[in-house]
Amino acid sequence: MTFTIQGIGASKGISIGMVHIVDPGQVDIDEYTIPENQVEDEIRRLDEALSLARAQLRAIRAKTPSNFGADVTNFINVHLLMLEDTVLTQVPMDLIRERYCNAEWALKLQRDTVVGVFEAMDDPYLRTRKDDVDNVVNRVQWILQHVERSDQATAEHHLEGKIVFADDLTPADAVLMRHQGVTGFLTAHGGPNSHTAILARSLRIPVVAGLHNARAYLRDGEELIIDGRQGVLVVRPTQEILGHYRKLQRFIAHHHRARQRLRNVPATSANGERIILQGNIELPSDAKAATQVRADGIGLYRTEFLFMNRDAAPDEEEQYLSYRDVLEAMKGAPVTIRTLDLGADKQVDGGRPGAPLSANPALGLRAIRLCLQEPEIFRPQLRAILRAAAHGPVRIMLPMLSTMQEFHQVRDVLRSCREELLQEGVAIGENLPIGGMVEVPAAAVCADLFARELDFLSIGTNDLIQYTIAIDRIDDEVNYLYDPLHPAVLRLVQTTIRAGQRAGIPVSMCGEMAGDARYTRLLLGMGLREFSVHPNALLEIKQVISESHIGQLKKFAARMMRTVNTDNRMALLETINENTSAALSG
Ligand code: PEP
Ligand code: MG
Repeated sequence: MTFTIQGIGASKGISIGMVHIVDPGQVDIDEYTIPENQVEDEIRRLDEALSLARAQLRAIRAKTPSNFGADVTNFINVHLLMLEDTVLTQVPMDLIRERYCNAEWALKLQRDTVVGVFEAMDDPYLRTRKDDVDNVVNRVQWILQHVERSDQATAEHHLEGKIVFADDLTPADAVLMRHQGVTGFLTAHGGPNSHTAILARSLRIPVVAGLHNARAYLRDGEELIIDGRQGVLVVRPTQEILGHYRKLQRFIAHHHRARQRLRNVPATSANGERIILQGNIELPSDAKAATQVRADGIGLYRTEFLFMNRDAAPDEEEQYLSYRDVLEAMKGAPVTIRTLDLGADKQVDGGRPGAPLSANPALGLRAIRLCLQEPEIFRPQLRAILRAAAHGPVRIMLPMLSTMQEFHQVRDVLRSCREELLQEGVAIGENLPIGGMVEVPAAAVCADLFARELDFLSIGTNDLIQYTIAIDRIDDEVNYLYDPLHPAVLRLVQTTIRAGQRAGIPVSMCGEMAGDARYTRLLLGMGLREFSVHPNALLEIKQVISESHIGQLKKFAARMMRTVNTDNRMALLETINENTSAALSG
């Protein structure tokens, strides 16, 4: 019998195939004591297992194509660093020496201690890092127990064309499975912000996550359909349902191919209005993807990624070289460098030692607030940006502005950095536009006041939605409330766009809403003329723009903002998107 299971759509697309169920990750281990004269042998056994685990990860990293994005290799690098850390290497060896326990037991004892520390953390993002510890420890336990783990076992399972169901998958597993031809992922845990989801989006693999109890209803090898956009799983589909989804797949593939021709034309609506379409990047190497789709510049360069997964912050010189690389790659197109947005869900390794724990990190000392309190972090970044600006057009963008005083403070620091550099005789760029992100309701409500002094605004919907509806963006349990169409969100977006129009300054949107083709027409109808999106999504958005007569969309946008009922809003969105690729693109 056919039935459907609802989960959370974490990476869009449709996949049809047999399910391969990966057994839950925990390894049963034996715990025993060893005689004193075997201690050194046991330590050697652990050392060899750790070396093999590192070699496995390096092999996976080597097989990761460079176009998979920085996220993938970063995750693998984090796991490699853990495998080199004394916490997971030296301490278990000391335990073997002190307690005469076997290697597996020593590793488990140390795992429990480390996980206990993570679990006690207030920060939800750091709490999720305990999964990384488990993944790394399990890999070593598997080797010690001579158990085949998924990345070895799967090689024999001929995963070509299969959909993998797992409790959760490490990024390393996902990369390998992609190589082996896996076409979709289902996970019991996680949501759109899990590691696997981030990875899968850059790999363009459909994912449905948060399928908690679904495993009990699935049998290995039976046929499934994943609809990653709707977050739905169809089990044992009928021929009729299969036919429908196959048609949808062909339609999506056709549109994807057809879209490639749009690379060489500017983003222009059907009624001839030129729309600015820029790219969001995390690392300098991502600029290549933006140039491949001919983005009109970089609308959001998330510089905090330069600070992650390393022991020490990059110095001014390293930052300068990174920014310069992006400017050179963009060949004269503008690059919007966002100053550090650290804190809350984006922590650097080690965080800020000694800093008091915040009960609400998302409302705490993050982004521009943190930078203004830590000049030794902020000044090198501003100096690096000014120096890089000698090589091409740079805009500076400030994250999480909530008061104009913050802007005034930044202006003062920037002025002092400029004078310092001039005195040192260093070449710098002049008159850099300074803009602010509108991602706190206070900034949206006062957008007219902000627009008087700032050179541009950029709407960060990811945070704006979180703060407007009061839901933690990384908490799966309230994910169902995360709604870009909420009238409160739309009204704040509208207020911001109008404030920019009245003040005559550009307003862009760089949150995920801008890169979701279902909302493109609505946003055009609301007056948005600048979008900054992940390079993977850019051509799809361009296509919808090219299919849209903007004049006809204004009345729909106005209606949407008056529609209270969620179902009615979804129905209206479908009407707006009728006959566009956004209506059907999975
Ligand atoms: C946003 O909040 O919409 C945004 C673009 O910033 P980030 O996702 O990096 O917080
Ligand atoms: Mg943000």
